[in-house]
Amino acid sequence: MAVLELVQGDITRLAVDAIVNAANSSLLGGGGVDGAIHRAAGPELLAECLSIAAQRKGRSGGGCPPGEAVITGPGRLSCKKVIHTVGPVWHGGSRGEADLLAACYRNSLRLAQEHGLESIAFPNISTGVYGYPKDAAAEIAVHTVKASLPANPGIKRVIFVCYDRENYELYKQFADLR
Ligand code: ADP
Repeated sequence: MAVLELVQGDITRLAVDAIVNAANSSLLGGGGVDGAIHRAAGPELLAECLSIAAQRKGRSGGGCPPGEAVITGPGRLSCKKVIHTVGPVWHGGSRGEADLLAACYRNSLRLAQEHGLESIAFPNISTGVYGYPKDAAAEIAVHTVKASLPANPGIKRVIFVCYDRENYELYKQFADLR
């Protein structure tokens, strides 16, 4: 069974196989963690995202609809792959937000497994500009990852990376994170 870890800090600094980006549907970069990842990774990452977005043009929801995930190389980052997933925008909870957020974690883990990636770092998807309540999002993140591990036996380490103190304190309440 994989080890679940908790880290406070900048996800672009982690030594892991896969870094997950909380992207937007256009895949063209944005603010928050998306901006930090693109700044650290450089233009090669953006070029790869542009090409995926162009291939997937015309899908409802843009290049990558909420809940789905795509995978690219790392650009200048030291990881092996970047997995870009699009979290739901919080609209009050009645528009399927919880299912979409869970799908982000599930689909990212599935991609990591398919590409033979053994360690994966997640940011707190949707809890920034997209406004998802942090406590509910943390619960979904930890629960979904735990539930998805048996189907993805190649994954040995999952790291929850909290940038802000509030998220870090919330994740600390899960006894099985170390
Ligand atoms: P979203 O649009 O999915 O809400 P944001 O990037 O606005 O995405 O926020 C998602 C989370 O990423 C927030 O909790 C924010 O604190 C965090 N974050 C911002 N920068 C970084 C970073 N460099 N490393 C890890 N997490 C980050």
